[in-house]
Amino acid sequence: MLRACSICRRLTEKRECDVCKNKDLSEEWSGLVVIANPKESMISQKLDIQTSGMYAQYVRSL
Ligand SMILES: [Zn+2]
Repeated sequence: MLRACSICRRLTEKRECDVCKNKDLSEEWSGLVVIANPKESMISQKLDIQTSGMYAQYVRSL
């Protein structure tokens, strides 16, 4: 099951976020976004994403 980081919204199957090492992950998220080229992507700029990967568009913090 994928969880979303409450800070950067990155999706991960691990217990902590790969990018910011945050352990506050939420199971309640929606809107899967795949970022391949963060520097060239309009979505990544809008969501302020610098690392490629899968992200949630909306995350509900617990
Ligand atoms: Zn994060």
